[in-house]
Amino acid sequence: MYYTKTKCNFAKNVNNLKGFKRTPEESERDIYMRFMKCHKCYDIIPTSSKLVVFDTTLQVKKAFFALVANGVRADADHHDFINILTRYYKSPMHIDAVYSLIKNKIHRLPVIDPVSGNALYILTHKRILKFLQLFVCEMPMPAFMKQTLEELGVGTYSNIAYIHPDTPLITALSVFTHRRVSALPVVDHNGKVVDIYSKFDVINLAAEKTYNNLDVTVTQALRHRSQYFEGVMKCNKLETLETIVDRIVKAEVHRLVVVDEEARIIGIVSLSDILQALVLTPAGT
Ligand code: ADP
Ligand code: AMP
Repeated sequence: MYYTKTKCNFAKNVNNLKGFKRTPEESERDIYMRFMKCHKCYDIIPTSSKLVVFDTTLQVKKAFFALVANGVRADADHHDFINILTRYYKSPMHIDAVYSLIKNKIHRLPVIDPVSGNALYILTHKRILKFLQLFVCEMPMPAFMKQTLEELGVGTYSNIAYIHPDTPLITALSVFTHRRVSALPVVDHNGKVVDIYSKFDVINLAAEKTYNNLDVTVTQALRHRSQYFEGVMKCNKLETLETIVDRIVKAEVHRLVVVDEEARIIGIVSLSDILQALVLTPAGT
């Protein structure tokens, strides 16, 4: 997938605020929210990307095969997809898209052509943050970017859903359903993070035809991971938001696991938490 950096006059006019006068600190604080407001969802559509569309009568099993064959990421089932498709029929502004993804706890938002009704593109947290990061260097950096996760309270630090290396796959799948989380860190019996099982990994069960045996452990299931795995991407709570954004965008993962000095799990910081902190919180949402 390729993005072209379209001409953006936002950075030049960043301090051109209509209405009341604000200090530079005040206008920097909500700069990412204002950046989002002046861009439409259409701006984020890459110049080259692939969209796989299924007929609703297609067998789910075959749809999974097609997704894997096309290297497409999906965690919404048909029902979710149709729900989302009808609910967000009009292409919303970016800030609304960020709000919808976070408020509805969804990971996929189709952008629809208002004339033809065709789905043009699927918007995700990852794509939005990547788009924002393209322009970050052209805007003044708000002071909160230099603050730590701990100072900002960004992430989840209680009631973390996780599993163990010997947890049966069927248990992991049921945790996904009951907790509505998108990934489960795999933690050994000393609390150390050794792997991560994400909803994205579940589609490999179809590709490997292993869906008939859900009694295998998550460790066994993770042997079929479709991409090369370089280890769990982690961070600590004393790292700044700037560092975290940089790491998560480069790693192209949806979350970092927050660990202490002994690599024991203490929290999760996901793209939802980051977009909330960058765009919605400064806007008072
Ligand atoms: P998506 O954004 O499509 O939901 P994920 O980021 O959840 O995808 O997962 C994509 C792949 O990256 C999966 O194979 C998953 O196991 C792996 N993964 C997810 N989170 C992490 C992480 N923190 N560190 C390393 N790998 C991860
Ligand atoms: P996500 O769906 O991953 O974007 O995350 C939505 C919210 O759930 C964020 O506030 C995350 O910090 C939190 N979260 C993500 N994964 C977990 C998990 N395994 N356990 C508890 N909370 C989580």
